[in-house]
Amino acid sequence: MSKLKKNIEVIGESGLFAFDVGIILELFALVSSIDRASKREKSIADFVVQMAILCGHDWERDPTNNVVVYLQPVDEKFETICLQAHLDMVAVGQDGQDFDTSEIEFIIKDGELWANNTSLGADNGIGLAIMLSLMSGYDGNFERPIELLFTSDEETGFNGANAVDPSWISARKMINLDSEKTGKIVVGCAGGACWQIKLPNVKQKLNYTEDFTQITLKVSGLAGGHSGVDIHENSGNAIFLMAEMASSLMEQFPEFKLISINGGAKMNIIPQECEAVLIVSDKDFDSWILFEQAFACQVEILKETLIDEPGCKFTIENKIISITRSCLDNQFSADLFEAIAQIPKGVISRDPADSKYLQTSNNIGVIKTTEEGVEIVLLYRSSLLEDLNSLRVAVTSIFSEGAFLTFANADLKILAEFDPWEPKRDSLLVKMAINAFVNEFEYEPELVVSHGGLEPGCFEKKWPGLEAISIGPTIEKPHSQEERVDIEGISSIMNILAGILSISSSDFQ
Ligand SMILES: [Zn+2]
Repeated sequence: MSKLKKNIEVIGESGLFAFDVGIILELFALVSSIDRASKREKSIADFVVQMAILCGHDWERDPTNNVVVYLQPVDEKFETICLQAHLDMVAVGQDGQDFDTSEIEFIIKDGELWANNTSLGADNGIGLAIMLSLMSGYDGNFERPIELLFTSDEETGFNGANAVDPSWISARKMINLDSEKTGKIVVGCAGGACWQIKLPNVKQKLNYTEDFTQITLKVSGLAGGHSGVDIHENSGNAIFLMAEMASSLMEQFPEFKLISINGGAKMNIIPQECEAVLIVSDKDFDSWILFEQAFACQVEILKETLIDEPGCKFTIENKIISITRSCLDNQFSADLFEAIAQIPKGVISRDPADSKYLQTSNNIGVIKTTEEGVEIVLLYRSSLLEDLNSLRVAVTSIFSEGAFLTFANADLKILAEFDPWEPKRDSLLVKMAINAFVNEFEYEPELVVSHGGLEPGCFEKKWPGLEAISIGPTIEKPHSQEERVDIEGISSIMNILAGILSISSSDFQ
């Protein structure tokens, strides 16, 4: 079989050729010149199709903007392998908000590629660039057919992967390029579900014939991070901390009412901040000093539960207010805090085979007070189906089955759900990959079950018997302005990929 690594065939006038880090970076720059935030994948899907046409390959596209491209040899001698990456990226702009990702500016620093104050999109743009380089450099003399599967809308719940037409793919070996540690092979991942829980409450109007004191409690400065990667026993969740703080203070000072509680940014981000606003009629409130003492005491208790959170800060402010406000019912507030206390949270269990890795966790990512009441978004994960089922039961029994009378009109919705990807540690594909890793690094790679979700979990039921692995160059802090990719890692991953594609699986039977 001709070696893909040696392939430097130039295609058309584009001057693109395969398996050279410079070319991968050029292709990544090209991909990055197109806006490809999640749900805006039309242009990048157009680009992939145009490139397939230019390179003379067959392709398919569906209405969700998934694309498959078929690399077909003149003489087919080896089993087909599918490579897969997602087209979309998480767009985090300068102000932390959504931005047009065609405006990404690159910076190279100490062997890493960064973006200038935005997310970089190396997740999963490097995977795309590797697949595009294969598409442009594929030589018909290479005897292995390759299916390139580009999926849309991965970052908001695997919507593209779930919609892929099963008839598109004939391969039963798949290499997903969406992992973020060069020296590891991911062989499985947790499943999970993201819930939106709306808890309506008829708000009480406050009587403004008297003066009120408004108290703002805030916790901030927590480390945060991705709930599939960074969650560990000591990581603080600002929403849990604030619920405990406000609940304890309102128990000690029942004359207080809850106006609002707001915290967190996204379902899969561990919340770094949360704020609760309480109010009390001045005629019922005469001891600010006592309240402050109770607050300080509660801060001490909560800080004892935090070990790796040096930046964590609790603050309290009070002011007299004269604007019209309405508050949440006291029983509802008490039920809300009790429900948050009851729900299994943070790290629930670790992998018994290797306690370095997580098995089951739950993150309350967002809480917000709306016109209608309070809304919570949570995301739980587990590599065990029975744990996923018991978390589903816990969420429904706490929020919708009469455990709390004030939640009678709760509205629960699953926003996204993904199946676990069952590890097959001794599959032929894993053996082929270990061989290629050993050739590159001269040591055996670690086989890992990821706690964060990956698309092969969606594919196992479409293609029974599928063997899959996930690999990729080291990417730090994806989904943030600090996202960067290790350039040498890209080169290693390309060598490993060329190694896997160039060997016959029959050598490993
Ligand atoms: Zn990704």
